[in-house]
Amino acid sequence: MSKATPKLITTVAQLREEVGKARRVGKTIGLVPTMGALHEGHLSLVRAARDECDRVVVSIYVNPSQFGPNEDLGKYPRTLDADMALLADCGVDWVFAPGNDEMYRPEHATWVEVDAVAEPLEGQLRTGHFRGVATIVLKLFGMVRPDVAYFGQKDYQQSLVIRRMTDDLDVPVAIRVCPIVRAPDGLAMSSRNRYLGPAARQRALGLWKSLLLAGELVEQGEQNSREIAARMREMIEAAGDVRIDYVALVDPDTLKPVETIVGRTLAALAVRIENTRLIDNRFLEPKS
Ligand code: AMP
Repeated sequence: MSKATPKLITTVAQLREEVGKARRVGKTIGLVPTMGALHEGHLSLVRAARDECDRVVVSIYVNPSQFGPNEDLGKYPRTLDADMALLADCGVDWVFAPGNDEMYRPEHATWVEVDAVAEPLEGQLRTGHFRGVATIVLKLFGMVRPDVAYFGQKDYQQSLVIRRMTDDLDVPVAIRVCPIVRAPDGLAMSSRNRYLGPAARQRALGLWKSLLLAGELVEQGEQNSREIAARMREMIEAAGDVRIDYVALVDPDTLKPVETIVGRTLAALAVRIENTRLIDNRFLEPKS
């Protein structure tokens, strides 16, 4: 484990060589896939990797294939210098930041499609998103061959998709999902938060407030998920000009809707504020 500035690698060949050397002398490898514009949420994954693995790779790649035609690929923040500075002294060995040519050859023609858990929620609204995610993550697994890969609960559905893919395709990697890191006021940290001006950011607090409200209602014995979702929507809309993509109460394993909350349930939501799309989620735990 190194404490200095990580080594920046931009080619797959160099990545394989360096990581391979460590693997051959018995070092365990942790991988943290990211799209950069790093924040405390990402760093929490890095810390988990560092605690558990001998060597840590952070990948930084804004993957075009997971963005829809009307999404924010062009304006997604690319801040490699700041990211490298943030990762200094974090115990990261390598930052893998390839260009598009390195990741997708012109003749690329293979895509990973996960059914079931990839279909509802984000899958319904972002056609092709999880196909892009699953493909790039499987490619990264092939390049790095990590023992453990780290993902955030912030993108809960993504973590289920990755777990499904690794199980179904027998990929020898352990998947860890780390808790959501929030700003002190509760807003889930996200690279997209930097799109928010002060007024929009204030409105964005409705997401967390609605998740808190859902938790309180369940604690008070409310079991009707329609009622809870309606109260959550009210709370989000009370902030003013926002567009709700979905507020859903779902089974945490299948993501199928739950009507009556009798066991652990995931409250998940996606909301658009101005041109920024934010997602968040929380587990609801009814008293037995
Ligand atoms: P991204 O760069 O947005 O693709 O995120 C890279 C990884 O960091 C994903 O596994 C995310 O779920 C995770 N992540 C992003 N934001 C947070 C957060 N606030 N707390 C924990 N993990 C996060």
